[in-house]
Amino acid sequence: MSSAFSFSEWPPALSEDQLEALTLYATTYALAHGLLYLSPVKPQPPIPNSAIHAPLSVFPSPFPRRLFSLARRLQSTYNILYARIATDVEFLDKVMGSVEGVGKVDDFVGQLWTGWKALRDEGTAQPLHLGLFRSDYLLHAGAPGEPLSLKQVEFNTISSSFGTLSQRTAALHRYLYASTAYYNVFPDMKPADFPPNDTTAGLVEGLAAAHAAYNFKEAKILFVVQAGERNVFDQRLLEYELLEKHSIHVIRQTFDELALSASVDPATRALSIGGTAQISTVYFRAGYTPTDYPTAAHYATRFLLERSAAIKCPSIALQLAGGKKVQQVLTQPGVLERFLGGAVPAAQIAELRGSWMGMWGLDADQGVPRARAGAAGLVLKPQREGGGNNVYKEAIPPFLDALPAPERQAWIAMELIVPPAGTGNYLVRAGSDAEKVDVVSELGIFGWALFGGQHGGVQEKEVGWLVRTKGKDSNEGGVATGFSVLDSLLLV
Ligand code: ADP
Ligand code: MG
Ligand code: MG
Repeated sequence: MSSAFSFSEWPPALSEDQLEALTLYATTYALAHGLLYLSPVKPQPPIPNSAIHAPLSVFPSPFPRRLFSLARRLQSTYNILYARIATDVEFLDKVMGSVEGVGKVDDFVGQLWTGWKALRDEGTAQPLHLGLFRSDYLLHAGAPGEPLSLKQVEFNTISSSFGTLSQRTAALHRYLYASTAYYNVFPDMKPADFPPNDTTAGLVEGLAAAHAAYNFKEAKILFVVQAGERNVFDQRLLEYELLEKHSIHVIRQTFDELALSASVDPATRALSIGGTAQISTVYFRAGYTPTDYPTAAHYATRFLLERSAAIKCPSIALQLAGGKKVQQVLTQPGVLERFLGGAVPAAQIAELRGSWMGMWGLDADQGVPRARAGAAGLVLKPQREGGGNNVYKEAIPPFLDALPAPERQAWIAMELIVPPAGTGNYLVRAGSDAEKVDVVSELGIFGWALFGGQHGGVQEKEVGWLVRTKGKDSNEGGVATGFSVLDSLLLV
């Protein structure tokens, strides 16, 4: 498409009839292709019997081709970087541990770290770690006249979701284009502007690589899930692909179920479920938030899995590596070079650093006064995942007033990314008409890495992408939290 694309002229205008027809095409396609959430209505008996389409956008969102290429290119470097962080015990102890690091003041991080430390002291049975990652970005407009740049929001190392649904959303927009050509309201749109998205096969390839490395054909993969999860189709689609393409069976259980069913062989440390099925790989779609651990027994179950010889996706080390504190410490001089120097060309390291906003710890010298003074352009983040935990702009000063000084160590300040203004889209939530709103779109790039073996090598790959779009007045994103809708890309 032409380089003269104007973000503020998106989306193209539709008549009411066109919008209604497109909404019908879109929701029908979504329902027919598993772009779904379980219905919020609890079934009786508790066997799911209805679903709603996932929230979605009618148009894909424009994204500069060169920045999409950049994001994909960066993924391999990020895969290697986080593999190296997760295997640097000394670094993780210092940054996230309970003696010197965040674990001192953040109970959740402290619990995970303490459990991990005890297991390390005992001796680990499985050197390999698997990561299914998602690196998230926003477009940054910067100063007037500057070209748009790509800036990282965060790097997820646990429960990175919406891989399979994002593949379906990309297919949805390709379908709308093919079937209606979007009524030719934007004649510049070309098939080549809709990039392919094969995230399902890619993520499953990562799980299958771990399974193969475990080297016991009859073993199964364990999905650890939350009770009452409504985003089940996103997970099940991975399960179906594992069986269909790789003949690998999946067992799906919650921490509560695993407390009764999981056991570790004292001699071999093989993990079994129900006394029979041996597990090659534990894939966590739970365990990333303190509410997944309401009692000490839930932590005990996590540590039982961790102690086993199964490959964990992620290991506790890799989960801790995904902390926002780690993201901030990486921006300090020399830290990135320490992890990647020698392994990755300097130009690639510079490119990675170029994707970062300014960050500092609230416990740094002048950390709090700086955050207070710059509040209008900042977000504060704790060591949490899953959305809804950050403190933005004008809420920052009163928050700082109330924050006990020791807890500053658990929070980072991050400069706000400023996306291009005036971009809109038509958003559709189940049961409502399409709504035209000004939006911000967040790109996620998926990748996996299998690492930790004797030779220090990292097997890794970039495997696809996701776009989540939210109303511009919402600070937070998150589809599961109800702020965002699933979207895809139109390269411009
Ligand atoms: P979580 O791990 O809970 O998803 P994030 O760091 O992704 O935490 O923050 C949640 C949301 O807050 C993001 O999806 C994004 O919409 C917004 N956000 C986070 N950091 C920034 C930033 N630096 N600039 C602008 N928005 C941000
Ligand atoms: Mg996020
Ligand atoms: Mg996150």
